[in-house]
Amino acid sequence: MVQHKVLHGVGKLIYGRGSVHQTAERLRPRRGTNEGYAVFVIDHYFRDHALLERLGIEDRDLVFFEDFDVHEPTTEQVDRLRDAVLAERGWPAAVVGVGGGSAMDTAKALSLMLTNPGSSTQYQGLNLIQTPGVFHLGVPTIAGTGAECSTTAVLTGPLKKLGLKCEWTVFDELILDPELCATVPRNQWFYTGMDTYIHCIESETGIHNNAFSKAYGEESLKLCREVFLGPEAGQSADNDDKLVVASLFGGLSLTYSEVGVCHALSYGLSKVLGYRHGYANCIAFNHLEDYYGPAVGEFRRMVERFDIDLPQGLSKGWSDAEIDAMVEVSWNLPHMWIHALGHDWQDRIDRGVLKSLFQRL
Ligand code: NAD
Ligand code: ZN
Repeated sequence: MVQHKVLHGVGKLIYGRGSVHQTAERLRPRRGTNEGYAVFVIDHYFRDHALLERLGIEDRDLVFFEDFDVHEPTTEQVDRLRDAVLAERGWPAAVVGVGGGSAMDTAKALSLMLTNPGSSTQYQGLNLIQTPGVFHLGVPTIAGTGAECSTTAVLTGPLKKLGLKCEWTVFDELILDPELCATVPRNQWFYTGMDTYIHCIESETGIHNNAFSKAYGEESLKLCREVFLGPEAGQSADNDDKLVVASLFGGLSLTYSEVGVCHALSYGLSKVLGYRHGYANCIAFNHLEDYYGPAVGEFRRMVERFDIDLPQGLSKGWSDAEIDAMVEVSWNLPHMWIHALGHDWQDRIDRGVLKSLFQRL
């Protein structure tokens, strides 16, 4: 059954090699609003990188280099950035996110938290945000999460890993320059790329699947297969061109459908053990043939093709309390379980079965 969601798309999108040059031009008309300056949230990888010259950063702008290797974006991090920005220069004209899904989500959440009072923990959930955020522009540098087009900004808070989800979360503008992905390390390229593959498989395998999500999902899967399995598979300029589009389409597919069992487990792994999203997905998906059948075999062929590090038997090192905590995180994502197993999902799975799934990993 199609859910009648309001799909709020990215307002303007620029695609193509070298398009990052247009950042300054996109910001120019905005600089007349609020206090006239821009806030850049940039992945720390680019701290001394030539890319900085191409972003149109002006002297009056505020630039934050955020290190997401320590952890994925947190509510505390977004609140801290918001407080620092407002204390230093008042309301910015624009927020620009430069990096992977982590930088995208941090910029999206920061934009919203500049106009909504209190802590971002209060807004983790659907449509809890009251006021549209500040103009925000995304410049992704790694492809796969779909965060560049999704209606959610996923944050880890003290109680849950859950997004600020509403129509205003979506970027106002997006610059998709595949050239920026050239330096992504191979394992990371694979883990984040597989996020898209898994989004599409999950989006199509569940009750919210529909012709709209399927059309985007199928096209994205076709591109993923070329990038990770085809005769020209591997990291290359051509494949980066394809993967950024696959990521966008995968994000659109799941926005009008839902993710499923793999993401439910993955959120448990990330919240309790701090595993990164793409990596956690791969760890879980590898053992989900009961739910995703031949797609798991195809995934394993891609792992083998690129000789990707994918440890097994991890659960032997986890305490019972840790596994129980992961079960609780996962269990409390009913929207994913409903999509994957149906409205009677609690008749089809219980905490014991869920625990055994974690024990397979
Ligand atoms: P990431 O943003 O966490 O970055 C992963 C690593 O790649 C980092 O070490 C970073 O420094 C490095 N990196 C990024 N671009 C690079 C480049 N061009 N060259 C070299 N290194 C580069 O990774 P990700 O997988 O893109 O994002 C994961 C995050 O996205 C998680 O926080 C997850 O919750 C979130 N997510 C959000 C959505 C959504 O819809 N909002 C969907 C899926 C995942
Ligand atoms: Zn994902």
